[in-house]
Amino acid sequence: MAENLNVFRSTQVIIEEALTKLGYSQAMIELLKEPIRVLTVRIPVRMDDDSVKIFTGYRAQHNDAVGPTKGGVRFHPDVTEDEVKALSIWMSLKCGIVDLPYGGGKGGIICDPRQMSFRELERLSRGYVRAISQIVGPTKDIPAPDVMTNSQIMAWMMDEYSRIREFDAPNFITGKPIVLGGSHGRETATAKGVTIVIDQALKTRGISIKDAKVVIQGFGNAGSYLAKFMHEAGAKVCGISDVHGALYDPDGLDVEYLLDRRDSFGTVTKLFSNTISNKELLEQECDILVPAAIENQITSENAERIKAGIVVEAANGPTTLEATRILTERGVLIVPDVLASAGGVVVSYFEWVQNNQGYYWPEEEVHQRLKEVMEKGFENVYNVHITRKVDMRLAAYMVGVRKMAEAARYRGWV
Ligand code: NAD
Repeated sequence: MAENLNVFRSTQVIIEEALTKLGYSQAMIELLKEPIRVLTVRIPVRMDDDSVKIFTGYRAQHNDAVGPTKGGVRFHPDVTEDEVKALSIWMSLKCGIVDLPYGGGKGGIICDPRQMSFRELERLSRGYVRAISQIVGPTKDIPAPDVMTNSQIMAWMMDEYSRIREFDAPNFITGKPIVLGGSHGRETATAKGVTIVIDQALKTRGISIKDAKVVIQGFGNAGSYLAKFMHEAGAKVCGISDVHGALYDPDGLDVEYLLDRRDSFGTVTKLFSNTISNKELLEQECDILVPAAIENQITSENAERIKAGIVVEAANGPTTLEATRILTERGVLIVPDVLASAGGVVVSYFEWVQNNQGYYWPEEEVHQRLKEVMEKGFENVYNVHITRKVDMRLAAYMVGVRKMAEAARYRGWV
């Protein structure tokens, strides 16, 4: 039978397994296996050549038993409804694992920002907010950046929402520029969080970060900052990649040079002639492999050949269920996406708290709080992994889903 590469279906399988292990009813499984709300919108945008193009967008809200839903908006040509639904469930799990007062949400627009002008992107961003404005808001559902969206796009979206509501609403969206109420440390938060859990994972194996060899797939927001932080912590960054190819050197790459030369879409390898493929990169010698690009990169096809002892998923959904089983059987420690990449939503939460308070924290305070939250999240998941004898992904789902299920139970929904 062909391996299941539909991330939504795979997520449902583990949600069901986690809730069953925790002893919840079939009704709870039915409730939490699907988002409570998915809106599909059509967005007409006037293009620079005066033609009108109609874009399709989605907003999925997984569950709001714990509190408002929260999650990014992705601009990508391959966005699908199933992907957005899976991503909204992962956001719920992340919020549960790091104990934030949110459920998960996610949005996406089928588009290619690389082919659009600055003003076309502005019109698309504003059009999307108008289309979803009924179901979002600071106490309903709070968007944020994701793949190929950034602080400028968040600023336009915040401005559009504020105009619709006729009051200033910085707490409508996170990932904003600092001058509009963004938080210090938000841009680097995902990578900082990954760095913190890598440190924790290495400790379980008795390896010092200074002796660690790291390979990172993807050199965008998550991958490039991670390379920077790992390099600064004294680890050897032996491999990196982007959509065009990969670089690998067992003696370590010149991280500062690569960071300096990368473009705003996270590409840099085109400048080199000695590249290998992304596929080859994943199988190179290293202690820690960090997929930080796209889904379904470690599958039943290559899981046997992964040499890393620790796989830390900065990307969402990079490892299939079958590959998780193979890696776990081989003794590889997987730090799953719903835990590893939760740093972004943690600092997004801090941003929302600061907006609600109208009082802003220094960067050091953000980092310190992020460290505490991520370490606690790792400990909780790792303890369930050891005590319940389940793999790290199932352990993370068990920790992540419990708060949601309890909130739904107390509300009398199930
Ligand atoms: P990004 O768009 O900034 O960078 C993506 C990187 O992956 C780029 O280097 C790109 O060239 C590379 N890439 C794209 N397609 C590829 C392919 N087919 N093969 C190999 N490389 C490819 O995105 P990002 O924000 O760094 O996000 C990367 C992953 O991390 C995504 O799965 C995202 O959902 C996840 N993530 C990001 C954040 C965040 O705050 N940035 C938070 C949580 C999870």
